[in-house]
Amino acid sequence: MERITLHQLSAVAQVAPPSLHIVHELNEKAWRSRLSDRHLTRKLSQEAYELSANNQPPYASGIAESLVNLSFLAFLEDHYGEALAKAVEAQTILENSYDRTWLSRVYNVLGTTFSHLGERSKAIDYLYKQINLSQSLNDKENEASGYNNLAIANLNIDADKALTYYHQALSLLRELGNRKSEAVTIHNIAECLINKGMNSEAKPYAQHALKIARELELKHIEISALGLLGKVFVAEKEPGKALTYLETALAAASSYHPKQESIILKCLGDFYLEQNQAPAALGALEKALNLCEASSHKARIYACHESLAKAYEKIASYKQALTHYQKFHQIKEAAFREENEQKVRSLEVLHRTEVAKREAELQKQKNTELQRYVAKLESLNEQVKQLSLRDPLTGVYNRRYLLEHGVKLFSQAQRYNRPLSSIILDVDHFKRVNDSFGHGVGDSVLKELAKLLSHSLRNADILARYGGEEFVILMPETKLENAYLACERLRKTVETHPWQNIHPELRITISIGLAADISLPDYNALIELADSKLYEAKRNGRNRICS
Ligand code: GH3
Ligand code: MG
Ligand code: MG
Repeated sequence: MERITLHQLSAVAQVAPPSLHIVHELNEKAWRSRLSDRHLTRKLSQEAYELSANNQPPYASGIAESLVNLSFLAFLEDHYGEALAKAVEAQTILENSYDRTWLSRVYNVLGTTFSHLGERSKAIDYLYKQINLSQSLNDKENEASGYNNLAIANLNIDADKALTYYHQALSLLRELGNRKSEAVTIHNIAECLINKGMNSEAKPYAQHALKIARELELKHIEISALGLLGKVFVAEKEPGKALTYLETALAAASSYHPKQESIILKCLGDFYLEQNQAPAALGALEKALNLCEASSHKARIYACHESLAKAYEKIASYKQALTHYQKFHQIKEAAFREENEQKVRSLEVLHRTEVAKREAELQKQKNTELQRYVAKLESLNEQVKQLSLRDPLTGVYNRRYLLEHGVKLFSQAQRYNRPLSSIILDVDHFKRVNDSFGHGVGDSVLKELAKLLSHSLRNADILARYGGEEFVILMPETKLENAYLACERLRKTVETHPWQNIHPELRITISIGLAADISLPDYNALIELADSKLYEAKRNGRNRICS
């Protein structure tokens, strides 16, 4: 399976592309079967991962969900480093998405994994996050699971706290009617009470767990509850009852699973040992050891060696007793070393993942800054471009723009034989305006005139400042007669405008030259023709139109 790095997943708040809706179904199904069918969970989540990763661009939410499932599997198989690395990667994606349900699931996996690594405060941190999130989502199932995990994280440190959390989980599970998880929780409460030495309090819980387990055919819980009841009766000095429960447990376990069988055989061995029945103890313990060795579960193996050593001591076989003691110490030490090494390795993996996560976040930040910068640059470029096309004083187009578009419009008009009118207008005696009222008033007149003209024109018309106090208007799709009417309207508008608002003695008129001959060789010729008409208008006394 090819890994997708965090760097490739910056756009995380994605919506599933239509072809990838199946990804969520696969992952959901994988999550639901994680405790009952690991093989199925692996198959489904790998399929979901590949679909998401092969999409262009990779589908981050799908990848994250698959990683949560795969992380949980790694946890179940005691690969804590891998579990953490996958979970942290998923967490990064999910914390940036809208997928709260899967975020609470990744907190669950992180909390449980840290709890197993003995990182209690980190574990509790994540489990509280999980519980808070589940509460806000009204997801009682996940909330109960959070309390159960919190209880487990507290088991060896604060049994009372653990019991409180178990009870919180229990009431939620009862509310939900989830009897299977209820049985597990009740069983856990019984176990916790027994470890506290509260055997009579534990008894009803163990019995209740047994009852539900039998009703629902939960073999695992049934066997374990029978074992717990055995322990309770040993403590209550009722060896007969204890033996009955342990033998019933053994019968159930031997047809169920070697792991369970080895656990019950060990209990039975310890029971015989306490009853001073060393030969029976040896028989049970040797069998238990064989089964444990087959599954190479270190903690159970060294516990068997310890009990065996005691049993051999009881029958005065000191040499064998010594051998088992030696094995007990040797394996226990190795197991501790291994556990520690694994813890260190897992935390190293976590550290590397967190460094990568921080780097990815930095990278993302840099990318956003860069994007912002590029957007700003683009808008500045656009502004500069606009400015280069406009006359700074009046804001209308400049001569450069006019020329570019004039050439284009002229050749289109020629090709399709469409009308095109071109107008040049010039302020009459503008020099006098400047001379009499100053340049400032002159400028104001030009600005006001540009405004008047642009308000009187159609959208398709192009108005440009051609020179000092000369403006050009290009009117596409407009015949000479119509352009003439427009010119007359403009001329009147200017003549009747209240120029006194700028200066009390100010009067402004314009002269206009008009041309619409598209048979001329080019656009320049058309402008020249309009220009000559303008001069005609001037010569004929100004404030008029010539065409
Ligand atoms: P005519 O009726 O023949 O057009 O007379 P006129 O005085 O308008 O003609 P002329 O071309 O001699 O004068 C144009 C004046 O426009 C000269 C110049 O000082 C002034 N002018 C050109 N550009 C600007 C400008 O941007 N602001 C101001 N205030 N005046 C300008
Ligand atoms: Mg003039
Ligand atoms: Mg002029």
